Amino acid sequence: MTENKNPTIATVCSHTSLQIFDGARKEGFKTLGICLGKPPGFYDAFPRAKPDEFFSVSSYQEIIEKTPELIEKDVIIIPHGSFVEYLGASDFARLEVPSFGNKSVLEWESNRTKEREWLTSAGVPVPAEYSSPDDARGPVIVKYHGAKGGRGFFIANNQQEIEDKLDTSEEYVIQEFVLGTRYYLHFFYSPLRIDGYRVGDGTLELLGIDRRIESNIDELYKIGAASGIDPSFVVTGNLPMVLRESLLPKVFELGERVVERSIELFGGMIGPFCLETICTDTLEFKVFEISARIVAGTNLFVSGSPYSDLIEPDLSTGKRIAQEIRLAIEMDRLGDVVS
Ligand code: ATP
Repeated sequence: MTENKNPTIATVCSHTSLQIFDGARKEGFKTLGICLGKPPGFYDAFPRAKPDEFFSVSSYQEIIEKTPELIEKDVIIIPHGSFVEYLGASDFARLEVPSFGNKSVLEWESNRTKEREWLTSAGVPVPAEYSSPDDARGPVIVKYHGAKGGRGFFIANNQQEIEDKLDTSEEYVIQEFVLGTRYYLHFFYSPLRIDGYRVGDGTLELLGIDRRIESNIDELYKIGAASGIDPSFVVTGNLPMVLRESLLPKVFELGERVVERSIELFGGMIGPFCLETICTDTLEFKVFEISARIVAGTNLFVSGSPYSDLIEPDLSTGKRIAQEIRLAIEMDRLGDVVS
């Protein structure tokens, strides 16, 4: 573990890197951007979010090979969705460079079966799953394992439609299609802070909410349901969301259960995480996915959200991560938030 009281905050130049660098700088850290090939020019357009230093690699795998150099530079890596995706969950898990968060979460999050076991054993409502097309009831969404960003997923209304479209050479799940409104809840679990909404030995914060915009499903209604075009779920952007205030107790209950169960299962999920939910017309939430790190929807809130503003003005998730590292250093507990 780093002894230095002022480590450098590093991440891969993509996804949520702008707010991670901006937030780290606001908290007084040096920053390092890991990039593929030449440093990307677009950072020049955003001076406050440009890392102090770039670290070029020719492939993401080279990050593993260059571990000694990164350790020498005394960096703490902030993993984001693209970082883990590009490097691969198993390579990320064995990366010896100190990383923010608990790497043990990867085993539970990167496998749909284990993720579901975590959520259901936490008492969180999830969409029903059917073991075969014959068991399916009502509209379903079929998801292939390993398919990222909803590619190849399809919706079917009955057994016949499932069988017609199903590619059985792939691993898949048949899931209840939950009709409702999607809310992507950006939480932050701090094992260090004790002032706030208490969960475990720490506190749970809600830093923001977004909804992913997905092409083409979000606009399909414009040409009518009978168009015959298969929907796709490719994320192209994010919209800010706020919830009916009366739903906030339910939202905190979901976050609380997931964190409490994570503490029992693998020592706890640390820092930012996102519950991807659908709220039905009976105002029940179903959680269809969990992302155990900073999600791209937080990019909406570089200068705070309607929720994080009530914790501290100008608080992004990137800044909150830097604050947690700063607090851990001050408390001499870096090992509790970095693995
Ligand atoms: P990512 O890893 O990028 O989060 P993914 O490949 O794991 O994506 P999901 O997030 O599970 O895919 O689903 C992609 C999209 O499909 C969701 O954003 C949502 O629009 C839709 N979706 C997923 N599950 C359901 C469900 N049970 N009912 C209705 N819609 C769903």
